[in-house]
Amino acid sequence: MMMSIATSKDFTSERVKHTKQSITLELNEKVKSLAAEGQTTFNLTAGQLPFRPPTSFIQSIGSQLNFLNSFQYSPVSGFEELRKKVLTNFFLERPFLTGDAQEDKQWSSDIESDMSCIVSNGSKHSLYNLLGCIVDPGDEVILFSPYWVSFPEMIKFWEGIPVVVNGHLYDGFIPDLEQLKKVLSQRTKAIILNSPNNPSGVYFSKSWMRQFATLLEQYPNVFIISDEIYSQLFYYDPSPHYFYQFAPSLLKRTAVVQGISKTLASTGLRIGYTVAPKAIIQAMSKLQGQTTSGPNSLIQQALIDFNDVETHQYLKEVRGHLRRNCETLKEIFRQFNLSPCWYQTNAAYYFLLDFMRTPYFKRKYPDHTRDNDVAQQICDEIFQTTNVAIVPGTNFGLPNSARISLTLEWEPFDQAIQLLGKFLTN
Ligand code: PMP
Repeated sequence: MMMSIATSKDFTSERVKHTKQSITLELNEKVKSLAAEGQTTFNLTAGQLPFRPPTSFIQSIGSQLNFLNSFQYSPVSGFEELRKKVLTNFFLERPFLTGDAQEDKQWSSDIESDMSCIVSNGSKHSLYNLLGCIVDPGDEVILFSPYWVSFPEMIKFWEGIPVVVNGHLYDGFIPDLEQLKKVLSQRTKAIILNSPNNPSGVYFSKSWMRQFATLLEQYPNVFIISDEIYSQLFYYDPSPHYFYQFAPSLLKRTAVVQGISKTLASTGLRIGYTVAPKAIIQAMSKLQGQTTSGPNSLIQQALIDFNDVETHQYLKEVRGHLRRNCETLKEIFRQFNLSPCWYQTNAAYYFLLDFMRTPYFKRKYPDHTRDNDVAQQICDEIFQTTNVAIVPGTNFGLPNSARISLTLEWEPFDQAIQLLGKFLTN
């Protein structure tokens, strides 16, 4: 007779039980499967472009299919040539700006020799490994809200404590450095900076970066993680600047994370990079070697071979697309008198919609404060009424808000924002 295999024991670790699901990925998958079943959907959840990568990159992948090397293990930290290319590009794209050309040159050569690079399976993987190499149990890691959903979960997974400095729409979500000073302490191990930012779609100005650098110089025991995955995706000039450009010595305790997901519209190819001091890269390599090994050899080889001249033109088009959608959103919000929800975005793929400033919220939840979060409920209702899918802002650290992705093709995007505007003013 067959025995039924019933067990009531839950073998899941406490660590994973306490980890939140990635709301962005979950919603994107859900909306995609509804669309596959034939339901009309406007998917404004995705952090990815609806375009193919640059043609020369696709061709480069094709030509690398002919080589055995593309199918075998890569070195754990990635192929040397790619690591070199990433490091060289990093210093070319982010020249130091201390105001003294001779001094900048000196800094560049000193610091370049102290820095190294590791390639991982997407920048999410880079960040996860990096935090694993920096955070000990009980260490505090400071985040600026609104923040990317995975940061607090990764910090907690490594038994660190996320400490949040809240940002506000009336400051255009630019972090308040006075508030930062209040939470910096002996327990602070690191600060995570994400500019351009997911989910606010803003980058922090040159003068903000300069002040941030001055502040960091006063806290020599704090490590800085700079998530720069959207650094190329600004749609109003100038391009973003970074704190270490004003105080190069900060790079000795900084890790910069980048990747190809956003810049080359290649979210599925899973390549991320970390540029950091050699000791950190060695630690990450040790962790990577015992967990995932080196990343995808084929794509690494294609990236070595790939001539990125075409990328400039490609990025121009991507920026034009994001700018057009952003301007469309603002124009429709103006037509619907939703101007209290406005703030100036300039980069990344997103706009953060504060429900509390909409007529809909004021009518339906007149007594609610930020502490009574109904973002999920509102997003569900929006989807049921309009087929427009957006992501509740709760896990981004701003209750009663939602993240709108600007990536969709213009026509359906325009239609979706019209529907949203109508809903929010009803
Ligand atoms: N950092 C930020 C701020 C992001 O928005 C994302 C993707 N949504 C990542 C890192 C991870 O990107 P990937 O793993 O695809 O390189």
